Amino acid sequence: MSETETAPAPAPGIVTDMEPETQTARKIDDEEEEKIRRQKTLEEALEAQSLRRIISAYLNYAEASEEDLKRWERSYRKLSPAHKALVPHFPMKFQRLRKCVSANSLFIDNMLQAFEPPIDLSQELDGCEDSNLECAPHEKYTLDERHDSSCQPALTNSCTYQEESKHIREPIAGVSIEELQRKEAHDHSPKDHSADTKINNKTCECDGGQLNHDHSSVSFSSHNWLDSSIQTHVPLVDVDKVRCIIRNIVRDWAAEGQRERDQCYKPILEELDSLFPNRQKDSTPPVCLVPGAGLGRLALEISCLGFICQGNEFSYYMMICSSFILNNTEDPGEWTLYPWIHSNCNSLSDNDQLRPIAIPDIHPASAGITEGFSMCGGDFVEVYNESSHAGMWDAVVTCFFIDTAHNIIEYIETISKILKDGGVWINLGPLLYHFADTYGHGNEMSIELSLEDVKRVATHYGFVIEKESTIETTYTTNPRAMMQNRYYTAFWTMRKKCAIATT
Ligand code: SAH
Repeated sequence: MSETETAPAPAPGIVTDMEPETQTARKIDDEEEEKIRRQKTLEEALEAQSLRRIISAYLNYAEASEEDLKRWERSYRKLSPAHKALVPHFPMKFQRLRKCVSANSLFIDNMLQAFEPPIDLSQELDGCEDSNLECAPHEKYTLDERHDSSCQPALTNSCTYQEESKHIREPIAGVSIEELQRKEAHDHSPKDHSADTKINNKTCECDGGQLNHDHSSVSFSSHNWLDSSIQTHVPLVDVDKVRCIIRNIVRDWAAEGQRERDQCYKPILEELDSLFPNRQKDSTPPVCLVPGAGLGRLALEISCLGFICQGNEFSYYMMICSSFILNNTEDPGEWTLYPWIHSNCNSLSDNDQLRPIAIPDIHPASAGITEGFSMCGGDFVEVYNESSHAGMWDAVVTCFFIDTAHNIIEYIETISKILKDGGVWINLGPLLYHFADTYGHGNEMSIELSLEDVKRVATHYGFVIEKESTIETTYTTNPRAMMQNRYYTAFWTMRKKCAIATT
């Protein structure tokens, strides 16, 4: 039935006015729908392009490392015979380095093999060639790469994802928080094309064949999306991000990262433990969100502590890797990586530089997680500003995260909005604003507040500081290097005292 048939008879005199108005309204609706559809197609194509670029960066890792090696060899060859004689082990070191690169590549290959692209990667941007990387979103959005000078920088069988331009939303494990499920089931608004995957508890039953100890049998052939056409040349800066990810793996998933985890994660875990003493007795465990979850270790530890924990992360670099470790690990130490081979600087010895690191240090699926552990991909502000999250969380934990914002005030406002009254925000990190020095990207917004200002803004959003201290820590630092950057991070617990009207 048409609208005119169902509409009550209009009063005389108004009919002629109403008709065109109704038509115009319908036309506007159609136009609006078409606009939204086009926008969505564009966002998906951008997303596909961005993801292709990230996969290419991973695929280019071996080649780029070989380039470095060749350069080092060329320099060596330029030495005079007398000088060469003083470093006779160099050719052997280069061969050893090649083997290390192969081992790292093997891990990367297997990781990509296990990855299920959430979108059709063949989507092209009209008028924008795949090789035209200028059209891809700036990858600096996707990886925090600022925390080190040389690198300044949950569990399921199937994952679906949601994508937004520049931002992914990739649940790794299922979400058992009722509100989230309800939202995902009913929210089909064009802005939020979400599809959080529910956890299925078969975490450890993931395609085990991929990760037996005979890694050599793995090939790409079973994944036709991962054929050679996906690999395009990417700028070296992208391959650097892959190297940063390898260092992040040490931070989160190696025994060698324990000291750094003790510095950064332990104070947070102890604080959560003391703030929620009765959590085991409660009928449902408290819910905790970790925005900017990186490779997921902190979120996993919080889950193991007896919280329903969700990590949120928007970098595909990170998500591909955390998903692999969380979902595909069969045994602790099943992979050997050589994270420190890419720099010859500040090494005490070649053996230090070439030392192997076994990962992961634990078997995530048997670590004792609390049901409902999940990872959710996407931009923190976009995902959690949805009304379904308002007042839902007992705790928000941010570790080396708040300074990744274009606008830190928006982060604080969102944290306040999603916390329950009386909920806590625990933060540990510096204020090394990610977008502070965006040379060449003059239009990038970056609001850089001092710690004092951050606290003032937090007070405005209803927070009361309960605890505050400074914690000295490193971030993805080689513990045996002759140079180690340190941060004097702000560590605080704030409590949301009251609901406040946000504008
Ligand atoms: N908490 C982790 C990672 C810190 S690095 C740790 O302590 O090791 C900051 C992380 O935040 C990066 O992984 C980056 O990709 C992510 N990130 C940055 N901006 C984000 C945003 N708007 N939404 C979600 N994640 C974001």
